[in-house]
Amino acid sequence: MGNSTKSTRRKFLKGMVAGGAALSVTSLLKSGQAIAEENMPGQWTSETDVVVIGYGAGGTAATLEARAAGAEVIVIERMESGGGAIQNSGGIIYMGGGTPLQKALGFEDTRDNMYNYLMAAVGDGANPEIIGLYCDKSLELYDFLVSNGVKFKQSFIAGKHVVPHTDDGLVYSGNEEQEPYRSIATPIPRGHHAESPGFSGHAIIRPLQKVANASGATFIYQAMAEQLIVNAQGRVVGVAINVKGERQLIKARRAVVMTTGGFGTNKEMIAQHCPAYLRCGVFIGSAGDDGSGIKMGQSVGVDVRLMGESIAYLPVYYPHESLVKGILVNNRGQRYAGEDQYGDPVGCLTTRNYPDSWVIVDQTIMDELPKEAQEKLKISAQASSVTELAKAIKIPEVLLENSLAEYNSMCDSGEDLHFKKNSKYLSGIKVAPFYALNYSANGIWYIPKGGLKINTKAQALDPQGKPVAGLYCAGTVCSQVVAQHYPGSGTLNGQALTFGRIAGQNAAAEQAVS
Ligand SMILES: Cc1cc2nc3c(=O)[nH]c(=O)nc-3n(C[C@H](O)[C@H](O)[C@H](O)COP(=O)(O)OP(=O)(O)OC[C@H]3O[C@@H](n4cnc5c(N)ncnc54)[C@H](O)[C@@H]3O)c2cc1C
Repeated sequence: MGNSTKSTRRKFLKGMVAGGAALSVTSLLKSGQAIAEENMPGQWTSETDVVVIGYGAGGTAATLEARAAGAEVIVIERMESGGGAIQNSGGIIYMGGGTPLQKALGFEDTRDNMYNYLMAAVGDGANPEIIGLYCDKSLELYDFLVSNGVKFKQSFIAGKHVVPHTDDGLVYSGNEEQEPYRSIATPIPRGHHAESPGFSGHAIIRPLQKVANASGATFIYQAMAEQLIVNAQGRVVGVAINVKGERQLIKARRAVVMTTGGFGTNKEMIAQHCPAYLRCGVFIGSAGDDGSGIKMGQSVGVDVRLMGESIAYLPVYYPHESLVKGILVNNRGQRYAGEDQYGDPVGCLTTRNYPDSWVIVDQTIMDELPKEAQEKLKISAQASSVTELAKAIKIPEVLLENSLAEYNSMCDSGEDLHFKKNSKYLSGIKVAPFYALNYSANGIWYIPKGGLKINTKAQALDPQGKPVAGLYCAGTVCSQVVAQHYPGSGTLNGQALTFGRIAGQNAAAEQAVS
């Protein structure tokens, strides 16, 4: 460590909570500042090699790997039990590069093909090293999951799905088949769907946590991690937790792994960093994702990235793929996205630029929808002409008429000149009555993308790009693969599991401090 870094660290440590005797426990617990070990208010309550904070996807993977490496592990979880968001998730994990399932189903993928797709699909802020590593580790992740009891049925389901309603194992879960991506990378399905019909996240996390729970790790539930503890050298050496009002100080001889999820339930942080996403209606994370982990990381000098970005998921193919044959229009009656595009670019555009939006369909499209899908539609208006429909939803009639006329003429010629929608969906919108379906921002699923900065070892990084010693991160508490856009369902689960594994392995391999 150079002199300038040492002096920056000293200044930083001076700013931390000091003089335990002078501060009440309550003020310590609420301050959000890190605690300097030399001023720690009391003795260590217990100690271990690796402390894992948060027992969702990232925390489970970290626990399994740290235990497999022989480290003692204490897991801190604020809820009554573990599971995090993944237990309610669609159960999709984004993996590729030639997984056994892809091969068995006849899909020839390569690591580079997966990398090229992801780099293009995540857009601005793509981190080539992190994405490269995610692809490198994909086959290993598949083996890790299967060897720990996760099952994938050997079957492929075609079409566009939010989540397969069946128990099929492989699905296109992103924009692989859409332009411009299909011209950048050979389209291959990478959504690995755990074997159970519909939302099958439980079929991932239950088997993994069964193994982790029996691994010899210690679990402390209803325990809120509140402050990191840092030694005189600036190394993270423990954490102060609040267990039903009682403070405990847990020492981590080797490292702390932060897997506390993002800040999706914290409206103040959303208002500060990505305010447009306050318009979105449905947060898809766990109830514990209040940004506490990000704040703890910042309290020891960890940098953040992409805090202004959020996943906003608006799939026009929900509740049924046939809706993609309609057109998505804003309150000027104008199309603004290819309706067959994955839900995230569409949702981000809608949230930021066109919060009042509709999908316009005709009776022919309606007739294609099964009854269960029709029951889920939010019908804003139905009319016998496009003019009457525009009036009913209060958008300029001539603009909607023009959009429909232009769209129908492109359907007749078989080419969507604006958004390159796949020609199989270009059947036109011509048969009355016409319907306006509400696809506005307040129905959008969101989850902020920003978080702590890490490197390929899952070490937390300061603004100079140097690791903050003793601290590793994984999952939505930090920024990994996902950048401006979410490339496909399964990437959130995939990155939490991949970087959770890496964090657990590297935390266990740290030199123990006394
Ligand atoms: C309905 C739904 C559908 C989804 N579908 C998919 C999908 O198909 N594919 C996909 O990839 N992703 C999906 N996701 C998102 C994905 O499941 C999550 O982003 C991912 O699992 C996050 O994992 P994580 O470990 O980073 O965080 P989390 O799962 O949020 O876990 C964080 C854990 O830390 C705990 N915690 C937080 N703060 C503290 C603290 N201070 N002290 C102690 N404990 C703390 C929390 O209680 C929680 O248990 C979906 C999510 C939902 C809700």
